[in-house]
Amino acid sequence: MKSYDLVILGGGLAGMCAAVEAGEQGADVLLLEKQDELGGSTVLSSGYMAFAGTDMQVEAGITDSTQSLMEDMIEVGARMNDKTLIETYGQHQLETYNWLINLGVEFRTLQAVSGHSVPRGHTIDPHQGIQALYKRVKEFSNVEIFFNARASRLLKNEEGRIDRVVYEADGESHTVLATKGILLASGGFAKSEELLKLFAPKLDGSLRIGSEGNQGDALKMAWEHGAWVLDLPYLSGTYGFHPSANSAVKSQGLAFYKGAIMVNLLGKRFVNESLSYKLLGNASLEQPEGISYQVWDQTVMEKAVHDDPLYDFELLKRRRLLYEVDTLDELADCIDVPIEVLTETISRYNKGIQNGEEVEFGRKSLTHNYGEPTPIEKAPFYAFESTVAMLATYAGVAVNSGGQVLNPYSEPIPGLYAAGEITGGFHGAGYMTGTSLGKCAVFGRLAALGALKTETEAAK
Ligand SMILES: Cc1cc2nc3c(=O)[nH]c(=O)nc-3n(C[C@H](O)[C@H](O)[C@H](O)COP(=O)(O)OP(=O)(O)OC[C@H]3O[C@@H](n4cnc5c(N)ncnc54)[C@H](O)[C@@H]3O)c2cc1C
Repeated sequence: MKSYDLVILGGGLAGMCAAVEAGEQGADVLLLEKQDELGGSTVLSSGYMAFAGTDMQVEAGITDSTQSLMEDMIEVGARMNDKTLIETYGQHQLETYNWLINLGVEFRTLQAVSGHSVPRGHTIDPHQGIQALYKRVKEFSNVEIFFNARASRLLKNEEGRIDRVVYEADGESHTVLATKGILLASGGFAKSEELLKLFAPKLDGSLRIGSEGNQGDALKMAWEHGAWVLDLPYLSGTYGFHPSANSAVKSQGLAFYKGAIMVNLLGKRFVNESLSYKLLGNASLEQPEGISYQVWDQTVMEKAVHDDPLYDFELLKRRRLLYEVDTLDELADCIDVPIEVLTETISRYNKGIQNGEEVEFGRKSLTHNYGEPTPIEKAPFYAFESTVAMLATYAGVAVNSGGQVLNPYSEPIPGLYAAGEITGGFHGAGYMTGTSLGKCAVFGRLAALGALKTETEAAK
């Protein structure tokens, strides 16, 4: 049987960061990827990463701090997050941002995104990011990647330590030994109807947009060996996808964070649009047919960001996914809502803003505590039909800050590590944009380092 120091399951951002870090440490590493290419859900993502105190923020004149980032995460997570994981993220986030840059990962823009008190969404092109990590991995003679190799079970030795991975490749079953650790980085289960039915039945009507590989394989493997799971009650979808969206062609727009309102098929607002798009998703699924429209005017349109995955409204227009008309009457007609109700909804919203009052449902900002809403009054007017998509699960095995998978009594399961979307506990009750890719990078590295330490060192 072939033997490695570390066997990593999954070649998304978490697995690739772990592979680079372990490669740098000189460890013998095998990464098993069940698909024929790297990237998983990472390469489908919008590429936002949450970091604070970066050179990009300084250049843009944005004052930020690790403390503020951590406070936002805890607030968005409704204080259900594991504080130790948040603090560990805080300690390592800036260093990890610089580590990625040194590996050639390119950060392109900085945007205000869901949950953040200041613009803190640093965007990467996720394909470019994964390729930069892969380029580094190929330089190591001590790191191997097997493609089309699906891990199927984990085995324990006589001392109760998990030390072998069974995987399927070329129509055969193989077993490989891991002397220091097995690191689960196989992503979430956004594409597993079986698990979504079990844990998120309310999201039955939502679109499914995630990597085909994300079936929760390793969640089941870890469960078999007694892993505890966290954050499952908070599974939620993401609002802002056109009902025709699929993973291949992204049709997403978050105009509400630039000042659009959300109206249901009755022509009424129903929520504070500055909330996390996960909470907006829950609220919108309760509306008739689970469908609503983002409605905005030219003032908001002018805040579109060219080539941004969330804010490129001109792109939605070019794809013919937007209605664009000169009057609100025409808009009501296009989206088939009662004219008088839509006009009344918008007039009440505008009055609230113009009188400096709190707008109905408590809207005070564009996103989280950032930015000021503007009245919807300047033609042309726009509407974008929107629904909810299940992108990522953000819930899963309990881990400590060294990436050790924990049992229900918070005791490490010997030999077993995890990082990335397969882990729970970090986001708590709510996900803040950019913190999933962020946690993949930070904890992918830490889990690899954790596994390569001897267990006695790790316990210190
Ligand atoms: C459309 C979309 C937009 C998003 N936008 C953002 C964003 O802007 N910011 C953000 O922070 N998050 C975002 N997310 C979430 C984020 O992309 C994911 O949570 C993150 O990329 C997960 O990374 P990972 O490395 O844990 O898993 P993945 O990137 O999914 O990689 C897991 C890999 O494991 C492989 N695998 C699975 N099972 C096995 C097995 N049994 N054996 C071997 N290999 C296996 C898979 O094939 C896959 O390649 C978005 C997600 C989507 C879908």
